[in-house]
Amino acid sequence: MSSYLPRALVFALLTAVLAFPLGYFGQPWMGWALFYLGLGLQLAYHYRNFARLERWSRRPMLDASLEGDGEWDSVFRRLYSHEKELLAKIEQRERDIARLIAAVHVMNDGVVLLDGFFQIQFCNKTAERQLGLNATTDRGAPISNIVRQPEFIDYIDSRDFTRPLILRLERYFERVLSLYVITYAEDSWLLQVKDVTQTDKLDRMRRDFVANVSHELRTPLTVLAGFLETLQEIDFDADERQRYLGMMAEQSKRMQSIVQDLLTLSSIESAPPPENDPVDMASLVDKLRRDAEALCAGRHTIAVVSEGQGDLCGCEPELVSAFGNLVANAVRYTPDGGTVTISWKVSAEGAEFAVSDTGIGIDAKHIPRLTERFYRVDRGRSRDAGGTGLGLAIVKHSLNRHQATLEITSKLGEGSRFAAHFPSSRVVLTA
Ligand code: ADP
Repeated sequence: MSSYLPRALVFALLTAVLAFPLGYFGQPWMGWALFYLGLGLQLAYHYRNFARLERWSRRPMLDASLEGDGEWDSVFRRLYSHEKELLAKIEQRERDIARLIAAVHVMNDGVVLLDGFFQIQFCNKTAERQLGLNATTDRGAPISNIVRQPEFIDYIDSRDFTRPLILRLERYFERVLSLYVITYAEDSWLLQVKDVTQTDKLDRMRRDFVANVSHELRTPLTVLAGFLETLQEIDFDADERQRYLGMMAEQSKRMQSIVQDLLTLSSIESAPPPENDPVDMASLVDKLRRDAEALCAGRHTIAVVSEGQGDLCGCEPELVSAFGNLVANAVRYTPDGGTVTISWKVSAEGAEFAVSDTGIGIDAKHIPRLTERFYRVDRGRSRDAGGTGLGLAIVKHSLNRHQATLEITSKLGEGSRFAAHFPSSRVVLTA
């Protein structure tokens, strides 16, 4: 119990004890006057402190302005420290909330808080970008008034959020969003927006790739199965039988090449970054020349041009595969009597490996797509030439891994030039 009440009673009693003899032995009014003076002093003392408290409570400040007398001082001190604690807690809470909001704003996912009527209460910056919202002006507006896609409106109206909604937006470029609606408190909903454009694109590429591979393998397989059936059913003479077996061997070789190129592509894709082993370019170019001569069997002229002294740093098998593909293409797409030139040039800026030919050339509209898997200008001609449609995809991948770029220049009917540009960091100058 507080000691204040007994003390107040003692003070009143003391005043009465002092006032009584004065009133009894002197004049009674003197006794009363002393008694009321005592009570008045006590009242004034309390009023003075109350007035201080009243003044302070209008603008509670955390300084020493709240000072009291006697027991009031301890009350004021307790009040002061309570107020201080409270303010510190509020400040801490405010800092926590500000940090939380800042974190929500930098999230990769969009976040929109909605009330029971699906009106916007809050949204982070990512959601503003993804859905075209404005956190200030759209506050309180129903979300379906702002995001007007019919499938989104139907989704919100259905109130069935067991599955996410995949939304395709085409404002500037196609963007694919995955939307989840979750309830997190009574009459409170959270709309989470994930940008799945990249995953969707990869998914589509994977599906296209599987479809392309199946298509590429199905054709020779069908032909092979047809020949087998014919051989089983009809009793051909030895020559005819040999002709059929030759065609079957051709088809299986075609399948083998496709599978081989697919394996090369996938091993390049999954391999760690290429080593920095030195690759002797003089002997590599010489090997490429010999391979080209073997491939064309005297039908073309193979020329070699070399400028500057230097080798490459990288993964030799990958570079051999990339350069080999360029040389093989040049031979395949150049009619008899043409020339294929292999060049290797080193300068202070870097190095260039190029293969140019005097072949059939490529229409400009095809050039940007040539490095796509299975892209061919003329499917029939590529197949007849033993192509798989994967060669330039392998080239592009291998070069990318060596920070090199592929430059293609070509003129229909005149010839083509495929040049790989390597940065100086990949070149070791010799001599
Ligand atoms: P392919 O196995 O069909 O040759 P590539 O990926 O190596 O596949 O090449 C893609 C396409 O680019 C080829 O089908 C061909 O149409 C074209 N091409 C590539 N190199 C040349 C070249 N030197 N001259 C003309 N066309 C070329």
